[in-house]
Amino acid sequence: IDYDEGKGWHSATLGPRQPIALDPAASVLHYAQEIFEGMKAYRLEDGSMALFRPEQNARRFNRSAARLAMPSLPEEMFLASVKAAVEADRDWFPAVNGGALYIRPFMFANEHFLGVRPAKKYKFLVILSPVGNYFKSGVPAVSIWVSSDYTRAAPGGTGDAKCGGNYAASLVPQAEAIAKGHDQVVFLDAVERKWIEELGGMNLFFVFDDGSIITPPLGGTILPGITRDSLLTLAREEGLTVREEKYSIDQWRDDAGSGRLVETMACGTAAVVTPVGRVASRDGEFTIGSGGPGQLTTKLREKLVGIQRGTVEDTHGWVTRI
Ligand code: PMP
Repeated sequence: IDYDEGKGWHSATLGPRQPIALDPAASVLHYAQEIFEGMKAYRLEDGSMALFRPEQNARRFNRSAARLAMPSLPEEMFLASVKAAVEADRDWFPAVNGGALYIRPFMFANEHFLGVRPAKKYKFLVILSPVGNYFKSGVPAVSIWVSSDYTRAAPGGTGDAKCGGNYAASLVPQAEAIAKGHDQVVFLDAVERKWIEELGGMNLFFVFDDGSIITPPLGGTILPGITRDSLLTLAREEGLTVREEKYSIDQWRDDAGSGRLVETMACGTAAVVTPVGRVASRDGEFTIGSGGPGQLTTKLREKLVGIQRGTVEDTHGWVTRI
Protein backbone atom coordinates (compact mmCIF):
# COMPACT_ATOMS: atom_id res chain seq x y z
CA ILE A 1 0.00 0.00 0.00
CA ASP A 2 1.33 3.47 -0.90
CA TYR A 3 1.01 6.72 1.02
CA ASP A 4 1.17 10.25 -0.33
CA GLU A 5 0.78 13.32 1.84
CA GLY A 6 -2.59 14.88 1.11
CA LYS A 7 -3.93 11.68 -0.46
CA GLY A 8 -3.43 9.15 2.33
CA TRP A 9 -3.07 5.38 1.87
CA HIS A 10 -3.96 4.04 -1.58
CA SER A 11 -3.22 1.44 -4.26
CA ALA A 12 -3.24 -1.76 -2.19
CA THR A 13 -2.06 -4.74 -4.21
CA LEU A 14 -1.46 -8.41 -3.48
CA GLY A 15 0.90 -10.53 -5.53
CA PRO A 16 3.99 -12.72 -5.64
CA ARG A 17 7.09 -11.32 -3.99
CA GLN A 18 9.23 -9.39 -6.45
CA PRO A 19 11.96 -6.74 -6.44
CA ILE A 20 10.91 -3.13 -5.94
CA ALA A 21 12.57 -0.20 -7.69
CA LEU A 22 13.95 2.60 -5.51
CA ASP A 23 15.33 5.94 -6.59
CA PRO A 24 18.92 6.41 -5.29
CA ALA A 25 17.62 9.49 -3.43
CA ALA A 26 14.78 7.56 -1.74
CA SER A 27 14.90 9.00 1.76
CA VAL A 28 14.90 5.64 3.55
CA LEU A 29 18.35 4.95 2.11
CA HIS A 30 19.76 8.12 3.69
CA TYR A 31 17.82 8.82 6.89
CA ALA A 32 16.58 5.32 7.83
CA GLN A 33 12.90 6.19 8.12
CA GLU A 34 11.87 2.54 8.35
CA ILE A 35 9.85 0.51 10.84
CA PHE A 36 8.72 -3.10 10.97
CA GLU A 37 6.92 -5.81 12.92
CA GLY A 38 7.60 -9.52 13.42
CA MET A 39 4.69 -11.95 13.78
CA LYS A 40 3.96 -15.63 13.27
CA ALA A 41 0.97 -17.58 11.97
CA TYR A 42 0.65 -21.17 13.18
CA ARG A 43 -1.26 -23.96 11.46
CA LEU A 44 -3.91 -25.38 13.81
CA GLU A 45 -5.23 -28.95 13.87
CA ASP A 46 -8.39 -27.92 11.97
CA GLY A 47 -6.29 -26.48 9.15
CA SER A 48 -6.91 -22.83 10.04
CA MET A 49 -4.03 -20.40 10.54
CA ALA A 50 -3.72 -18.67 13.90
CA LEU A 51 -2.34 -15.19 14.52
CA PHE A 52 -1.32 -14.24 18.06
CA ARG A 53 -2.54 -10.82 19.29
CA PRO A 54 -2.08 -9.17 15.86
CA GLU A 55 -3.83 -5.97 16.99
CA GLN A 56 -0.94 -5.48 19.44
CA ASN A 57 1.49 -5.52 16.51
CA ALA A 58 -0.70 -2.98 14.70
CA ARG A 59 -0.63 -0.67 17.73
CA ARG A 60 3.11 -1.02 18.28
CA PHE A 61 3.62 -0.36 14.55
CA ASN A 62 1.80 2.94 14.86
CA ARG A 63 3.74 3.91 17.99
CA SER A 64 6.95 3.23 16.04
CA ALA A 65 5.57 5.27 13.11
CA ALA A 66 4.89 8.25 15.39
CA ARG A 67 8.45 8.16 16.79
CA LEU A 68 9.95 8.08 13.29
CA ALA A 69 7.74 10.96 12.04
CA MET A 70 5.84 8.60 9.73
CA PRO A 71 2.09 8.53 9.04
CA SER A 72 -0.02 6.07 11.00
CA LEU A 73 -1.60 3.14 9.19
CA PRO A 74 -5.20 2.46 10.27
CA GLU A 75 -5.23 -0.64 12.47
CA GLU A 76 -7.84 -2.35 10.28
CA MET A 77 -5.63 -1.79 7.20
CA PHE A 78 -2.64 -3.37 8.98
CA LEU A 79 -4.75 -6.36 10.06
CA ALA A 80 -6.46 -6.78 6.68
CA SER A 81 -3.07 -6.72 4.92
CA VAL A 82 -1.61 -9.36 7.23
CA LYS A 83 -4.69 -11.56 6.89
CA ALA A 84 -4.77 -11.20 3.09
CA ALA A 85 -1.09 -12.18 2.85
CA VAL A 86 -1.55 -15.24 5.11
CA GLU A 87 -4.73 -16.18 3.25
CA ALA A 88 -2.90 -16.02 -0.08
CA ASP A 89 -0.16 -18.36 1.14
CA ARG A 90 -2.14 -20.67 3.40
CA ASP A 91 -2.49 -23.61 1.00
CA TRP A 92 1.06 -23.29 -0.14
CA PHE A 93 2.28 -23.22 3.49
CA PRO A 94 3.13 -26.80 4.43
CA ALA A 95 1.62 -28.14 7.63
CA VAL A 96 5.12 -28.30 9.09
CA ASN A 97 5.05 -29.96 12.46
CA GLY A 98 6.03 -27.19 14.83
CA GLY A 99 6.82 -24.75 12.04
CA ALA A 100 5.21 -21.40 11.44
CA LEU A 101 4.71 -18.76 8.81
CA TYR A 102 6.80 -15.72 9.76
CA ILE A 103 5.16 -12.40 8.86
CA ARG A 104 7.12 -9.21 8.31
CA PRO A 105 5.01 -6.04 7.89
CA PHE A 106 7.16 -2.95 7.28
CA MET A 107 6.98 0.66 6.13
CA PHE A 108 9.63 2.93 4.66
CA ALA A 109 10.05 6.48 3.36
CA ASN A 110 9.98 6.51 -0.42
CA GLU A 111 10.27 10.16 -1.44
CA HIS A 112 13.24 11.34 -3.49
CA PHE A 113 15.05 14.27 -1.91
CA LEU A 114 18.26 14.94 0.00
CA GLY A 115 17.31 17.47 2.69
CA VAL A 116 16.75 16.16 6.21
CA ARG A 117 13.01 16.16 6.95
CA PRO A 118 10.21 13.59 7.18
CA ALA A 119 9.23 12.22 3.78
CA LYS A 120 5.88 12.85 2.12
CA LYS A 121 5.66 9.40 0.49
CA TYR A 122 5.76 5.95 2.10
CA LYS A 123 5.34 2.30 1.20
CA PHE A 124 3.84 -0.37 3.47
CA LEU A 125 4.50 -4.01 2.62
CA VAL A 126 3.96 -7.43 4.17
CA ILE A 127 6.25 -10.31 3.24
CA LEU A 128 6.08 -13.89 4.50
CA SER A 129 8.51 -16.73 4.99
CA PRO A 130 8.03 -20.25 6.35
CA VAL A 131 10.22 -20.93 9.37
CA GLY A 132 11.00 -24.18 11.15
CA ASN A 133 11.11 -24.59 14.90
CA TYR A 134 13.44 -21.96 16.33
CA PHE A 135 15.36 -24.73 18.05
CA LYS A 136 16.03 -28.04 16.33
CA SER A 137 15.12 -30.12 19.36
CA GLY A 138 13.80 -29.18 22.79
CA VAL A 139 14.53 -25.78 24.26
CA PRO A 140 18.21 -25.43 25.10
CA ALA A 141 19.30 -22.81 27.61
CA VAL A 142 21.01 -19.89 25.92
CA SER A 143 24.29 -18.34 26.94
CA ILE A 144 24.49 -14.57 27.12
CA TRP A 145 27.23 -11.96 26.78
CA VAL A 146 26.92 -8.67 28.67
CA SER A 147 28.01 -5.85 26.38
CA SER A 148 30.14 -3.27 28.17
CA ASP A 149 31.29 -1.31 25.11
CA TYR A 150 27.90 -0.80 23.51
CA THR A 151 24.40 0.18 24.53
CA ARG A 152 21.24 -0.29 22.50
CA ALA A 153 19.09 2.68 23.45
CA ALA A 154 19.60 6.06 25.10
CA PRO A 155 16.81 7.87 26.97
CA GLY A 156 14.87 9.99 24.51
CA GLY A 157 16.09 7.87 21.57
CA THR A 158 14.27 5.28 19.49
CA GLY A 159 14.77 2.26 21.80
CA ASP A 160 11.07 1.53 22.23
CA ALA A 161 10.35 1.78 18.48
CA LYS A 162 10.80 -1.19 16.17
CA CYS A 163 12.94 0.60 13.60
CA GLY A 164 15.75 -0.76 11.46
CA GLY A 165 18.32 1.63 12.90
CA ASN A 166 18.12 0.04 16.35
CA TYR A 167 19.03 -3.30 14.82
CA ALA A 168 21.86 -1.87 12.72
CA ALA A 169 23.37 -0.55 15.97
CA SER A 170 23.09 -3.94 17.67
CA LEU A 171 24.87 -5.95 14.94
CA VAL A 172 28.39 -5.30 16.28
CA PRO A 173 27.59 -6.18 19.93
CA GLN A 174 25.67 -9.28 18.75
CA ALA A 175 28.64 -10.34 16.61
CA GLU A 176 30.90 -9.78 19.64
CA ALA A 177 28.70 -12.09 21.73
CA ILE A 178 28.91 -14.82 19.05
CA ALA A 179 32.69 -14.36 18.70
CA LYS A 180 33.05 -14.87 22.45
CA GLY A 181 31.11 -18.15 22.21
CA HIS A 182 27.68 -16.95 23.37
CA ASP A 183 24.25 -16.98 21.73
CA GLN A 184 22.94 -13.51 22.51
CA VAL A 185 24.00 -10.10 23.74
CA VAL A 186 22.34 -8.46 26.75
CA PHE A 187 22.27 -4.67 26.85
CA LEU A 188 22.64 -2.51 29.95
CA ASP A 189 21.17 0.98 30.26
CA ALA A 190 23.06 3.79 28.53
CA VAL A 191 23.27 6.14 31.54
CA GLU A 192 24.51 4.19 34.55
CA ARG A 193 25.60 1.12 32.60
CA LYS A 194 24.29 -1.24 35.27
CA TRP A 195 20.55 -1.84 34.78
CA ILE A 196 19.63 -4.82 32.64
CA GLU A 197 17.48 -3.83 29.67
CA GLU A 198 16.94 -6.63 27.11
CA LEU A 199 18.59 -8.95 24.61
CA GLY A 200 19.07 -8.07 20.93
CA GLY A 201 15.62 -9.45 20.13
CA MET A 202 14.06 -10.66 23.40
CA ASN A 203 12.83 -9.30 26.74
CA LEU A 204 13.93 -10.77 30.08
CA PHE A 205 12.23 -12.07 33.26
CA PHE A 206 14.04 -12.97 36.52
CA VAL A 207 12.48 -15.68 38.71
CA PHE A 208 13.25 -15.90 42.46
CA ASP A 209 13.04 -18.77 44.95
CA ASP A 210 10.08 -17.16 46.77
CA GLY A 211 8.00 -17.35 43.57
CA SER A 212 8.34 -13.67 42.74
CA ILE A 213 9.33 -12.39 39.30
CA ILE A 214 10.93 -9.18 38.06
CA THR A 215 11.05 -7.81 34.52
CA PRO A 216 12.74 -4.51 33.62
CA PRO A 217 10.27 -1.60 33.34
CA LEU A 218 9.70 -0.28 29.80
CA GLY A 219 10.55 3.40 30.33
CA GLY A 220 11.30 4.24 26.68
CA THR A 221 14.55 2.32 26.12
CA ILE A 222 13.15 -1.21 25.89
CA LEU A 223 10.98 -2.68 23.14
CA PRO A 224 7.51 -3.40 24.58
CA GLY A 225 7.41 -7.08 23.64
CA ILE A 226 4.04 -8.68 23.02
CA THR A 227 5.37 -11.95 24.44
CA ARG A 228 6.54 -9.97 27.52
CA ASP A 229 3.05 -8.56 28.00
CA SER A 230 1.47 -12.02 27.58
CA LEU A 231 3.88 -13.58 30.09
CA LEU A 232 3.07 -10.86 32.64
CA THR A 233 -0.59 -11.91 32.38
CA LEU A 234 0.08 -15.66 32.48
CA ALA A 235 2.50 -15.40 35.42
CA ARG A 236 -0.03 -13.35 37.43
CA GLU A 237 -2.68 -15.97 36.65
CA GLU A 238 -0.35 -18.57 38.16
CA GLY A 239 -0.56 -16.56 41.38
CA LEU A 240 2.99 -15.26 41.10
CA THR A 241 3.99 -11.78 42.21
CA VAL A 242 5.34 -10.01 39.14
CA ARG A 243 7.00 -6.62 39.40
CA GLU A 244 8.22 -4.32 36.63
CA GLU A 245 11.33 -3.15 38.41
CA LYS A 246 14.93 -2.20 37.65
CA TYR A 247 17.39 -5.05 38.18
CA SER A 248 21.14 -4.61 37.92
CA ILE A 249 23.89 -6.80 36.55
CA ASP A 250 25.43 -6.95 40.08
CA GLN A 251 22.11 -8.10 41.58
CA TRP A 252 21.82 -10.72 38.84
CA ARG A 253 25.29 -12.11 39.61
CA ASP A 254 24.85 -11.99 43.40
CA ASP A 255 21.34 -13.48 43.38
CA ALA A 256 22.41 -16.29 41.01
CA GLY A 257 25.38 -16.97 43.33
CA SER A 258 23.30 -17.08 46.52
CA GLY A 259 20.60 -19.22 44.89
CA ARG A 260 17.91 -16.57 45.44
CA LEU A 261 17.56 -16.24 41.66
CA VAL A 262 16.44 -19.62 40.31
CA GLU A 263 15.60 -18.93 36.66
CA THR A 264 15.93 -16.29 33.94
CA MET A 265 13.60 -16.37 30.95
CA ALA A 266 14.09 -14.64 27.62
CA CYS A 267 10.99 -14.12 25.50
CA GLY A 268 9.98 -12.95 22.03
CA THR A 269 7.98 -13.96 18.97
CA ALA A 270 10.86 -15.95 17.43
CA ALA A 271 11.69 -18.34 20.29
CA VAL A 272 8.58 -17.69 22.49
CA VAL A 273 10.12 -18.45 25.92
CA THR A 274 13.73 -19.59 26.35
CA PRO A 275 15.80 -20.24 29.48
CA VAL A 276 19.01 -18.30 30.01
CA GLY A 277 21.61 -20.70 31.43
CA ARG A 278 24.89 -18.82 31.53
CA VAL A 279 25.89 -15.17 31.69
CA ALA A 280 29.36 -13.85 30.89
CA SER A 281 30.94 -10.42 30.95
CA ARG A 282 34.42 -8.94 31.13
CA ASP A 283 34.27 -9.52 34.90
CA GLY A 284 33.64 -13.27 34.66
CA GLU A 285 30.84 -15.78 34.29
CA PHE A 286 27.97 -17.16 36.30
CA THR A 287 25.40 -19.92 35.89
CA ILE A 288 21.70 -19.60 36.57
CA GLY A 289 20.11 -22.42 38.56
CA SER A 290 21.16 -25.77 37.08
CA GLY A 291 22.15 -24.03 33.84
CA GLY A 292 19.23 -25.74 32.08
CA PRO A 293 15.51 -25.01 31.65
CA GLY A 294 13.83 -24.21 34.98
CA GLN A 295 10.36 -25.31 36.12
CA LEU A 296 8.55 -22.02 35.64
CA THR A 297 10.19 -21.31 32.28
CA THR A 298 9.04 -24.72 31.05
CA LYS A 299 5.53 -24.30 32.46
CA LEU A 300 4.93 -20.82 31.04
CA ARG A 301 6.46 -21.80 27.72
CA GLU A 302 4.14 -24.80 27.41
CA LYS A 303 1.14 -22.68 28.26
CA LEU A 304 1.96 -19.90 25.82
CA VAL A 305 2.97 -22.23 22.98
CA GLY A 306 -0.23 -24.21 23.65
CA ILE A 307 -2.41 -21.10 23.36
CA GLN A 308 -0.63 -20.04 20.16
CA ARG A 309 -1.03 -23.49 18.62
CA GLY A 310 -4.59 -24.06 19.78
CA THR A 311 -3.93 -26.92 22.23
CA VAL A 312 -4.51 -24.84 25.39
CA GLU A 313 -7.75 -22.90 25.88
CA ASP A 314 -7.42 -19.28 24.78
CA THR A 315 -9.22 -17.61 27.70
CA HIS A 316 -8.00 -14.12 26.74
CA GLY A 317 -9.14 -14.07 23.11
CA TRP A 318 -5.52 -13.74 22.01
CA VAL A 319 -5.79 -15.92 18.91
CA THR A 320 -7.27 -14.75 15.60
CA ARG A 321 -8.08 -17.60 13.22
CA ILE A 322 -7.88 -17.25 9.45
N1 PMP B 1 13.15 -6.75 22.18
C1 PMP B 1 13.61 -6.57 20.92
C2 PMP B 1 14.74 -5.63 20.72
C3 PMP B 1 13.03 -7.27 19.85
O1 PMP B 1 13.50 -7.11 18.60
C4 PMP B 1 11.95 -8.15 20.09
C5 PMP B 1 11.31 -8.90 18.96
N2 PMP B 1 10.27 -8.14 18.37
C6 PMP B 1 11.48 -8.30 21.42
C7 PMP B 1 12.12 -7.58 22.43
C8 PMP B 1 10.33 -9.19 21.74
O2 PMP B 1 9.13 -8.66 21.25
P1 PMP B 1 7.90 -9.59 20.84
O3 PMP B 1 7.57 -10.40 22.02
O4 PMP B 1 6.80 -8.65 20.48
O5 PMP B 1 8.36 -10.42 19.70
